[in-house]
Amino acid sequence: MKGLVTLLIWLLVSTTACTQYNKDVVVAIQPLGTIPQTQIDLVKAAIDSVYGLPVKVLPTKPPFEAAYTPLKGNRYRADSTIAILKRTRPDSVDYIIGLTNFDICITKYAADGSIKKPEHKYTDFGIFGLGYRPGPSCVVSTFRFGSFDTEVAKSRLAKVCVHELGHNFGLPHCPDKKCVMTDAVETIATVDNAELRLCDKCRAKLDMD
Ligand SMILES: [Zn+2]
Ligand SMILES: [Zn+2]
Repeated sequence: MKGLVTLLIWLLVSTTACTQYNKDVVVAIQPLGTIPQTQIDLVKAAIDSVYGLPVKVLPTKPPFEAAYTPLKGNRYRADSTIAILKRTRPDSVDYIIGLTNFDICITKYAADGSIKKPEHKYTDFGIFGLGYRPGPSCVVSTFRFGSFDTEVAKSRLAKVCVHELGHNFGLPHCPDKKCVMTDAVETIATVDNAELRLCDKCRAKLDMD
């Protein structure tokens, strides 16, 4: 009986888990709206430097109309966007990173399931990025990173992409404030304080050598 239960659990886990991180997974960037080539190259270089993975670039699409929310201006729901990316991802791609210059948002909820207070702030709340953990898709927006004439904006883009892809690979937030998997806790300062690298504990979780 115990063996059967173990087998059933194993079947459940093995059929629901997506491809785990390894050197053969295929990662692709899906530009949503026009993204400068310099920003795409920067994301490719960051993912290669942290995960040792090459990155494909898919043909540009406009941001998804179904994710648009008029409430606070030109924002796109990040949760809807990653759901659409998951559904429409090409079979040849294991992980897809939506990259956009438009503002993206989610609604933040309190522990009791109600919208976090003040409600007007946390409904369609603007964010840097969002990714399933684990899962095949994430989205990152450059909208809140400042001017790309500065090194700091470039570094933010690199770190947030590596962070969201880390969630897709199954990594949770990390207590090490220098680790790229640290929780941004609603402020860009935590992103700036982190480094473009995974700490040893996060690397061990991915079985990286
Ligand atoms: Zn995160
Ligand atoms: Zn870490």
